[in-house]
Amino acid sequence: MDAVSTFAPTLLRRAAWVWPLVLALAFTCAFGTWLQWSDAQEAEDARHTLIADALTLNSRISDWLDSENAEVRRLAQALPAAVDEAGLLRESRLAAGLHRLWLSATALDAHNRILAHVPDQAPQPVVLPQHRSIDERGLSAHLAAPTAGGGKLVVQFDPGALLRQTVPWWLGRKYDVRLVDGLGEVIAATGNALAPAGRQSYRVSLEPEMADTYLELTTREASLPWWRRLPLALMAAFLLLSGAASWMLRRQMREVAAAETRWRTEAAWRRAIEDSLTVGLRGRDAEGRLVHVNRAFCDLVGFTPEQLLGRMPPMPYWPGDAVAESMQRHRRNMAGHAPRDGYEARWVRSDGTPIDVMIFEAPLVDAQGRQTGWMGSIVDIGARKQAEERERRRAEVLATHSRLTTLGEVASALAHQLNQPLAAIAGYGGGVLRSLERAGYADAIVLDALRGLGEQAAEAGRIVQRIRAFLTRRAPQRETCALPAIVERALGLLRRDLQRQGIGVETALAPGLPAVFADPVLVEQVLINLLRNAADALAGHPAPQIRIAAARAGERFLRVDVDDNGPGLGGLGVEVLAAPFHSTKPEGMGMGLAICRSVVEAHHGALEAGTSALGGARFSFTLPFSLATAATEET
Ligand code: ADP
Repeated sequence: MDAVSTFAPTLLRRAAWVWPLVLALAFTCAFGTWLQWSDAQEAEDARHTLIADALTLNSRISDWLDSENAEVRRLAQALPAAVDEAGLLRESRLAAGLHRLWLSATALDAHNRILAHVPDQAPQPVVLPQHRSIDERGLSAHLAAPTAGGGKLVVQFDPGALLRQTVPWWLGRKYDVRLVDGLGEVIAATGNALAPAGRQSYRVSLEPEMADTYLELTTREASLPWWRRLPLALMAAFLLLSGAASWMLRRQMREVAAAETRWRTEAAWRRAIEDSLTVGLRGRDAEGRLVHVNRAFCDLVGFTPEQLLGRMPPMPYWPGDAVAESMQRHRRNMAGHAPRDGYEARWVRSDGTPIDVMIFEAPLVDAQGRQTGWMGSIVDIGARKQAEERERRRAEVLATHSRLTTLGEVASALAHQLNQPLAAIAGYGGGVLRSLERAGYADAIVLDALRGLGEQAAEAGRIVQRIRAFLTRRAPQRETCALPAIVERALGLLRRDLQRQGIGVETALAPGLPAVFADPVLVEQVLINLLRNAADALAGHPAPQIRIAAARAGERFLRVDVDDNGPGLGGLGVEVLAAPFHSTKPEGMGMGLAICRSVVEAHHGALEAGTSALGGARFSFTLPFSLATAATEET
């Protein structure tokens, strides 16, 4: 996969936190637009209602003014030409008018001179054609009509009262109703005389009933009540919260991404470590299903992970002829009874090759600490087994060599023992021959026989000498060697036998022992002999124990002690014990200690026997330090 194609999805995933915010923004915009539109719609509706209400009220006022005008006209027509105040007051229409809303009535003659004015007070200056003037009660308006006598009747009325009487209560609650002139000056008003800003208002002319006068309706409530702004505030809060939530989401996502990266790194590490292992790893769940295998395991059994993962027993690497046994072991392991020190098993590779493995089982636990299965580590012990086999063969060869050496030693001893009798026979034969010859004994047959006897004895002696010379020809191959290594090798060869007998072996080699100048093979043989003897003596002992110690003995020698806690030597000295053919064992040849002594002495050391601090026998021998060591130590 190339960089670009992986980069895009990664970027998308990384920017995922922004989507809720974008959606919230889009939603808020849509909602805001809809709100705006619906407000505009509502304002439009409100305006239509306002206009309708204004027109309705206008027509009502016009009707009212019409009827008042008609009343004034009727009153004016009914007035006599020379009317006085008493006459005017007698008019019932005037009383009714004053009762309704007229403030005063003034009768003028044809020359606009006041004939009468009721109620009795100074007539207001009449300014026509505005039909209104200002008295102490505020602005007033006038209605005028010609009288029958050619004069004029002017009725002053209170526009405020006009409004009070004409504006229905429900309209008064909805609107501030004002009468204003062309300059916008308020003549009368219900509610607020001044319209607050931001309110809808509509003005309609009262012409022709009232010239230059307008009826103005202003909504009392703001066109949009305060709570209608609430959704916007809520949306703003929603946006803010969405922003905060997105920010938190982004932080969370970053943390998750960081954790994921850490986890991936760790997984890669673990995988690399697992792959670098030479130990096979095999994870199984509680039912025994294979859930994990590493590379070493696959290499070991020759199957691919795909062929192995998910498999339930019997496993493909179990030997076909031991499935029942393998199954039994599997059940034991699943029950948690696998040996803690591991167990050996024989598997079969995919190509049919058998493999010897050592398996260690450990519980597999999850993050909560619950056991979910078992993790097995598998070591191929084929090489180890081969090494063990090689070691065993080597031990056998050594044992054969040892036997041959023993035989050689026996032969050498025999030769040594036979040499003297043979020499004696030859000597006696020669003596007898010489005596018979001196005595004049002339039987040629006897003399020849005696001569032949002497020759044969001498020949036998020479043969024995040659054999002895041959057997003892091998001089020790001495070299500088470390004693601990020799002890280690000897113990290694005998380890199985010692373990079988349950003998505890302790080595106490003093630190910094100098190297010895000896034939390591022969010294090893000496040690093996002494250890074998000790093991033989310990047969049947309840707590058999052997201790090998080595330390300096004087300036030039190193001393090795082999102690046991067996029956001991019964007071016998090394001379008796190491004599050829001395043995207390039914199968014993009695040559072991003899050989040991000759080897040790060949190295200029000495073999000793005594009582051990452990309670049994102690055999000790000394070996010289190597010359190099001695030289170094001297300087
Ligand atoms: P073999 O082992 O064939 O008997 P050896 O020369 O090795 O011949 O031993 C001679 C005898 O010395 C043994 O038969 C045994 O009686 C005695 N002997 C040797 N080592 C010990 C020992 N550690 N404890 C008791 N007796 C021993």
